[in-house]
Amino acid sequence: MLKIAYSDIFRYSVPEKHRFPMQKYTMIPERLVAEGTISTDNFFAPDRLSEDEILSTHTADYWQQLKTQTLPRKEARAIGFEMTPALVERGRYIAHATYECALYAQQYGVAMNVAGGTHHAFADHGEGFCVFNDVCIASNLLLNRGQAQRILIIDLDVHQGNGNASIMADESRVFVFSMHGGKNYPFRKQKSDLDIELDNETGDKEYLQILTGTLPRLINEFGPDMIFYQSAVDVLATDKLGKLALTLDGCKARDEYVLRQAKSANIPVAIVMGGGYSEDIEDVVEAHCNTFRLAQQIYFGEMAG
Ligand SMILES: [Zn+2]
Repeated sequence: MLKIAYSDIFRYSVPEKHRFPMQKYTMIPERLVAEGTISTDNFFAPDRLSEDEILSTHTADYWQQLKTQTLPRKEARAIGFEMTPALVERGRYIAHATYECALYAQQYGVAMNVAGGTHHAFADHGEGFCVFNDVCIASNLLLNRGQAQRILIIDLDVHQGNGNASIMADESRVFVFSMHGGKNYPFRKQKSDLDIELDNETGDKEYLQILTGTLPRLINEFGPDMIFYQSAVDVLATDKLGKLALTLDGCKARDEYVLRQAKSANIPVAIVMGGGYSEDIEDVVEAHCNTFRLAQQIYFGEMAG
């Protein structure tokens, strides 16, 4: 069945006008259940990272600063959420959820985290709404425990996964593919294994052409036994931060393409959400829900559960 990591802790309390649409973490699961795409049986409550698991990827100094709430003010501000013990706790659950999704994906073909995709977190610092790097931690745990040998990260968030690129720079068993806006945050980009920079206003047709011209070759040549897919919806034309021009249908076609590629190659895929900042939260929630609907349809047919 479609296993979905969900916890109330994902929804962090932010000021009313904060640009991060925190409500999406409850709106997405509620909508999917209400419409019958899934039932509450699909959800699992994730565990949290142990300190050793954090240290698989992050530096001891950074972890100590988080643990003791002594992160320098400037570094805390770069994260973009109020730094509290609850924020750190939340990050531990989100990242462990991504690891658990990978294990469930190995069992069922696909699994999804309602949160995650914190690809701007580096080994020694966080930024851009990211405290811990969930996909890198999950990847390192899989590799360290012999649960995967070659991992492909498909990061289609509109922002470059600079943390992924930096953390995995010297790890040949992890291939980081990031397709993102060239003229967008982070303005000083890191080097992924493959970066594709898109022009502002790139629309559905061009976007899908580039993706379909790239992904099959990557999967073929690298030969992953695990895929992490960051299915962010900040590629939408309605996005306040994105600068691209995808429609809801285009975004859905993107997700469908990635999932069908993974499924036909018989490679487990763990999906993490990443960003989405459309003016109307409806666009964000609907686009994310499409990813869940597709996963349910493609892997498990039309039936709930
Ligand atoms: Zn983003």
